[in-house]
Amino acid sequence: MYRPTVAEIDLTAIRDNLRAIRACTPLKTQVIGVVKADAYGHGAVRVAAVLEQEHVQLLAVATPDEAIELRESGIAAEILVLGNSPADFVPYAVTNNVALTTANHATTVVYGAAAGTHTVRLHYKVDTGMGRAGILADNATEQILCSAAVPRVGIVGLYSHFACAESDPEFTALQAGRFAAVVRELRAGGLQPAMVHLANSAGMLTCPGVMLDGVRPGILLYGCPPVSAPTCPVRPVLSLRTELETVKELPSGHGIGYGRTFITDRPTRMALIPIGYADGYLRGLSNKAHVILRGCFAPVVGRVSMDVCALDVTDIPAAMPGDPVTLIGEQGGLSVTAHELADLIGTISYEVFTGISKRVPRVYIDRRP
Ligand SMILES: *Cc1c(COP(=O)(O)O)cnc(C)c1O
Repeated sequence: MYRPTVAEIDLTAIRDNLRAIRACTPLKTQVIGVVKADAYGHGAVRVAAVLEQEHVQLLAVATPDEAIELRESGIAAEILVLGNSPADFVPYAVTNNVALTTANHATTVVYGAAAGTHTVRLHYKVDTGMGRAGILADNATEQILCSAAVPRVGIVGLYSHFACAESDPEFTALQAGRFAAVVRELRAGGLQPAMVHLANSAGMLTCPGVMLDGVRPGILLYGCPPVSAPTCPVRPVLSLRTELETVKELPSGHGIGYGRTFITDRPTRMALIPIGYADGYLRGLSNKAHVILRGCFAPVVGRVSMDVCALDVTDIPAAMPGDPVTLIGEQGGLSVTAHELADLIGTISYEVFTGISKRVPRVYIDRRP
């Protein structure tokens, strides 16, 4: 690696966050490790391996290819694909301990037919108000009971997803109520899925009464709670770091970067850092973000370019090439969180994490391997 820009992933923090999550989860509730989108940019294979070591029994991904990546990398735990799977993935799924999501009877029939001599393990997704995938709660029971009779199909799970658990407790309770009604009707109809699960990270924190058989924390595992989480103390896992590349003096009245959106109003020491929007340091952060350098915050000045961006280090006179710079994470008692960066540009920490591109090497730290 000739470029000092890295995403440092603290696997010990994953272990501790999992422990914190388990401590605020009822004993009978399984923690499903959500590792979709390359574990929110943290590296799915490494994160899954740690979760498996910590006895997480079910991992959730979004796509069939994400399931294949884990399995082919030696991850043995059962994997649930949350998103859509085509029928021609079923033969792989049934021979590789991958469970699929179904959202209607017709798809279930197709999956059963594709299972060959095996049984395809399915989690039925119910739409209780998200308005995305899932069978509408109102007509779920009848169809799910039909699906349960399809040959070579095992309905092993039933789940739903909250639309706004971080912001709307009333609607969240309504969703939980609709889901509970479906579960009750299914039981009355003689179907008891092995695992009934509902809560994402925000749901676990704001609606702890509905943790059921399983919870599906993603962002909480990565230490960025979507709402304040006094009951579940987690810490960030990812730090984005680089080093000062060059430092130079610019006279007052000099522009910095594309579009000259920043004009110096004093003789200025400008420092370049080798990270840009192609690394996932988003262009919207231009003239807004700050980084940590020598125990101070240094502002990002001018547009973030594709490969570099500029800092004003006039007030940090000791700054020199090679100095460590933290863009996300802690350094010298100061911190910048993904959540803070997200807030600056009107997005969410999820997008900041998943936006960190493959050009940024992931470097792993594990104090308890
Ligand atoms: C992504 C996802 C989760 C995890 O959400 P967080 O907000 O990161 O906890 C849980 N359930 C489903 C269905 C998801 O798609």
